[in-house]
Amino acid sequence: MGKFKQPYAVTHRHDLHSVFINACKSNNLIALETNRTVEEFEQDDTEVTLILQSGERIRGRALIGCDGMWSKIRDKIVGDGKPLASGHIAYRAVLKRDEVPEDLWSPDVILWAGPRTHLVHYPLRRGEIFNLVAVFHSKRYVEGWNAEADAGELWAHFNGQRPEVMRMLERIDTWRMWVLCDREPVKEWSKGRVVLLGDAAHPMLQYLAQGACMATEDAASIADKVAASPEDLPAAFRAYAQERYLRTARVQIMARVYGDFYHARGPAAELRNQMLKVRTPEQSYESISWLYGGM
Ligand SMILES: Cc1cc2nc3c(=O)[nH]c(=O)nc-3n(C[C@H](O)[C@H](O)[C@H](O)COP(=O)(O)OP(=O)(O)OC[C@H]3O[C@@H](n4cnc5c(N)ncnc54)[C@H](O)[C@@H]3O)c2cc1C
Repeated sequence: MGKFKQPYAVTHRHDLHSVFINACKSNNLIALETNRTVEEFEQDDTEVTLILQSGERIRGRALIGCDGMWSKIRDKIVGDGKPLASGHIAYRAVLKRDEVPEDLWSPDVILWAGPRTHLVHYPLRRGEIFNLVAVFHSKRYVEGWNAEADAGELWAHFNGQRPEVMRMLERIDTWRMWVLCDREPVKEWSKGRVVLLGDAAHPMLQYLAQGACMATEDAASIADKVAASPEDLPAAFRAYAQERYLRTARVQIMARVYGDFYHARGPAAELRNQMLKVRTPEQSYESISWLYGGM
């Protein structure tokens, strides 16, 4: 947590998922079913029918499409085609505590900004493991995510970067990679009894590390709106989108700006460094209070 007004913490994705999964398992109104792929949906004034790849049809009062960046549900709500490839690729890896060079170990979130690259690292689980994310510009485009990565490509892009960065990268044998995509913000997140949530509604680049945070805020907001209007779900969904679309649009847009800021070269990089040098930590936290200050 930061010692300033806006608290910030990092947590392992698996640990966050476990909180949600355990909450679902302990609620007997929720049935968790995996390995079932949604193909289509239909709706009328009273219900939604979900059509699975297996051909099975499931009926319910509403549908919340939280099916991520490549959402099928979004196709029929927004219909804005494929996500936009940013031209940036992220490589991710995890080190154990004793694999991190002693002088490079830090309890803080550290970002090394270089021309067209950056490296972020921070400890997780009280320092048991160390998370690394290395990002660089590339024309490569692979749909989906979590593919095994070619370390040679990473080396080619980070060649010549600071020795601290190179020493950290040297420690990694296996990387996973993501082609980073986002979309333009939109405000139409629902149609009748069907609504979008999380990356399906507002996919963003990860430069503010906020995609899962925004999805979680969405969930809190939609729960409030449905509780306030349980008999009129289309109205509850509209109220939820109304509450959320500008906040999430701001994160989508600012994430792109931060990406450019991190990867700046030449005079743009000099300007960035000059701007950051004169700022106090309090001013830096204040500049991002719109985000960490809460919904
Ligand atoms: C490199 C990288 C780093 C990131 N770092 C951070 C970070 O530090 N902090 C942060 O908050 N966010 C971060 N994010 C973003 C975060 O991962 C996403 O915003 C978040 O996972 C979105 O959650 P979601 O539930 O909306 O979608 P997802 O996590 O994508 O989940 C969608 C689910 O829907 C399922 N699904 C998809 N299609 C279908 C279908 N047709 N039928 C049935 N199921 C389907 C998928 O299998 C998946 O389980 C990062 C993203 C990347 C790529």
